[in-house]
Amino acid sequence: MSGNGDAVVAAVERVAERIEAERDHLTQLDSAIGDADHGGNMARGWAAAADAAHDLDDRDPETVAKTVGKTLMSEVGGASGPLFGGSLVFAGAELEGGVTAETAVAFAETYLEKVTDRGDARVGDVTMVDALTPAVHTFKKSIETDDRPPLEALARAVDAAERGVAFTVPLRARKGRASYLGWRSVGHQDPGATSTLFILEELLETAADRLDEPIPDVDATSPTIPDEETDGTDADGTNSKVDAEGDS
Ligand code: ADP
Ligand code: MG
Repeated sequence: MSGNGDAVVAAVERVAERIEAERDHLTQLDSAIGDADHGGNMARGWAAAADAAHDLDDRDPETVAKTVGKTLMSEVGGASGPLFGGSLVFAGAELEGGVTAETAVAFAETYLEKVTDRGDARVGDVTMVDALTPAVHTFKKSIETDDRPPLEALARAVDAAERGVAFTVPLRARKGRASYLGWRSVGHQDPGATSTLFILEELLETAADRLDEPIPDVDATSPTIPDEETDGTDADGTNSKVDAEGDS
């Protein structure tokens, strides 16, 4: 049975097209702080993954995700192949029984957990984790806490990933090839965080297409920073200024 596996196949095909269109862009980013292969690696891997997904007789979402993951593992190579592919194989199990808001959150969390387990990178190390972490956290909160519709939750996740990508620019890389550059990595956007954002953008486009709804216009969720002009007392009565200073 296909469940909503056809939508997952459509998403994979769409991602493959986008990555192919961004091949030179990703190569350029990787030539600044790596070895200029990220565009080629990803384009080759996603093209093969789209073919493999397209050819499946059994298109249930779990099978599609696992097939795509295995193909990425064998075709992408580099540091990013096992991270994108291996994590997808593992997280694919969460889609057993179809894609719902609930299984999508479980999938996203497991995927992030696997990427950080395997790569041992944390937020701020200048890797794909910098795009993925805010996206997954925002998606989960939007669904589970804020009770937002799935399409809006996904739009918020993409917005969060976008800011995560921007966050990689002024930081020093601590993982992967870019870390060999030391301070020279500062000022460059991470290729893997960027390709992660492109993938998320295409998932959002596919979901909007399938639901035949426009992509919700989301404002950047502003972090709660105490106003310098006030005494630092937040609306809930806690004094975050004192808390923050209490650490030093
Ligand atoms: P390679 O670095 O082997 O040439 P790619 O160029 O395909 O592989 O991928 C580089 C990207 O992989 C980086 O931009 C970064 O986002 C990601 N990456 C590298 N190492 C790690 C890691 N330990 N954890 C998470 N992501 C990583
Ligand atoms: Mg590279």
